[in-house]
Amino acid sequence: MQQINFERDSYENFNDYNDLMVQAFGIGCSLCESSEIILVLKDSPIPIGRLIKQQAKSLSDEEVEKLIAEPLQQWQKFDDLNSEALKPTFLCAECFNTLNIEGKL
Ligand SMILES: [Zn+2]
Repeated sequence: MQQINFERDSYENFNDYNDLMVQAFGIGCSLCESSEIILVLKDSPIPIGRLIKQQAKSLSDEEVEKLIAEPLQQWQKFDDLNSEALKPTFLCAECFNTLNIEGKL
């Protein structure tokens, strides 16, 4: 496994709505690319699925595109910064367990 900076307390549950970011944008675990993401680094932008879900009315495709354009850039920037800092943005259960075990040694 590559060199990474991992702190247990820096992560929170990733609860996107309907797994939208996985389904629509193909995001995955930052280490193994699994789509079974359970954790995200704290201070992330709002997950896109939840953002769309929060809207009071249903949106046209065009409105959705407009709504998510900026958050998508924020996610991209967030992920870029994290990878520069060697921090995984998203973690699946398996990678998380591995990191947790290594951290205890
Ligand atoms: Zn993984």
